Amino acid sequence: MKSVSVVQELMLINGKWSPSVNAKFFSVENPAERGSVIAEVPRATAEDVDIAVKAAHEAFKSWREVPTTERGKLLWKIADAVEAQAEEIARTISTETGNAIRTQARGEVKSVIDIFRYFAGVVSEIRGSTCPIDNNLMAYTQREPYGVVGAIVPWNAPVQLSSLKIAPAIAAGNTIVLKAAEDAPLGVLKLARICAEYLPPGVVNVLTGFGDECGAPLSSHPLINKLTFTGSTAVGKTIMRTAADRIIPVSLELGGKSPQIVFPDANTDKVVDGIITAMRFARQGQSCSAGTRLYLHTSIFDSFVEKLSAKLSQLKVGNPLDEESDMGSIINKRQFDKVSAFIEEGIKDENVELIMGGLPPKDGPLAKGYYHVPTLFATKNDKTRLAKEEIFGPVLLILPWENEEDVIQAANNSSYGLAAFIWTNDTTKALKTAGKIESGWVQINRGAAQMPGLSYGGYKQSGIGREFSLEGMLDSYTQVKSIMIDFND
Ligand code: ADP
Repeated sequence: MKSVSVVQELMLINGKWSPSVNAKFFSVENPAERGSVIAEVPRATAEDVDIAVKAAHEAFKSWREVPTTERGKLLWKIADAVEAQAEEIARTISTETGNAIRTQARGEVKSVIDIFRYFAGVVSEIRGSTCPIDNNLMAYTQREPYGVVGAIVPWNAPVQLSSLKIAPAIAAGNTIVLKAAEDAPLGVLKLARICAEYLPPGVVNVLTGFGDECGAPLSSHPLINKLTFTGSTAVGKTIMRTAADRIIPVSLELGGKSPQIVFPDANTDKVVDGIITAMRFARQGQSCSAGTRLYLHTSIFDSFVEKLSAKLSQLKVGNPLDEESDMGSIINKRQFDKVSAFIEEGIKDENVELIMGGLPPKDGPLAKGYYHVPTLFATKNDKTRLAKEEIFGPVLLILPWENEEDVIQAANNSSYGLAAFIWTNDTTKALKTAGKIESGWVQINRGAAQMPGLSYGGYKQSGIGREFSLEGMLDSYTQVKSIMIDFND
């Protein structure tokens, strides 16, 4: 069912609001109401990519000369403007992603503001070092931007993930061409509007389009000097292969299947709440860092599961814009069907027990959107696909453990290594376990989100490079030049 008058949004290329060269648009839907179109956005292809990248290449020549403190001030102004429009941006995110406004979308905008302010503050830390070689020889390093950054982002936290590319890239003196995800470009375009207000033309360019038509030509464009991607491991591998053809650096933030380990002393309501947060139920589990494998010690298994089910059954799934809703809808039909297929597989598997939830309702208000309900499975078999693959839905798999060595081995038995959560008040045990976990981010007694200042990124197939931090910015968006001067007569 198409609405009567659908707004046609434009893309940001070289400071101008532009349709695609082919003049084609595609629809953005509200996943909470199957088939309802909320806007149309340009369907960019290689031709648009070429115009945007050339504009960014031109803009780089003067942007790199802008003093870092001036760049920092502009980032700060962007943060202020996002703050002034926070509610409107949150509503847009909520409408296009299906993420609940109270529990997720407002928090996402808050994080965008924090990210811009953080990178505005650390710009003056972009500096090199000196190297004492001998008295008549001086050597020092300086950090320089790469040039044009090609950035590709997914839909699950679209504006936050875009700011994690835009803010550090431009703070370090690069310019950027960012492709928004096809399912959630509208909040990113709102951020682009704010960026365009404060930045010279061409510094930030935002394209809307599909992965094969727009993302692929962006990643292979000869004037791109650095690629940064957040999304699936499969596409991440393609991006890395493309980067290899031109030997350009690439940062990847990919999938996860993160473990949560609960020790016997952690059988408390507070831990149950933390686990629900860590599982990102508020985002319907659609997060790469979601703690989707819950390892419960056998001595507390039954009573913990009882508490967890009781709390989860209180979560209200419903219209993302409703202040009462704790959880909204899944992003689109493809993802909805994929989650359903995993649940069906769990239900059919005789080694897996369905504890609560299950397949989504077939009628009633929730059937009008792509809603799934919180679902818990338990199993002793960690060979099941539910234990190995990223589901990206509100499906938590519980596995029992008895021995510390075994649970650490089980937690590490994954091709992914993004996040991990350890729940115990025994600090020695917690720290020993944290040291042995193969993940880029380990939290002890905390399930909440990342914070600017602390590096975030994956081990193993969860990615390469770090975000959220000064080190991440320096490693991902600057290259080191070593300079030597000889004073010998
Ligand atoms: P998801 O499964 O979460 O949609 P994807 O990895 O498929 O994750 O998509 C993440 C981003 O990558 C999106 O912006 C998408 O358009 C883009 N993308 C998909 N395929 C390609 C590709 N071959 N080249 C470049 N970008 C792509």
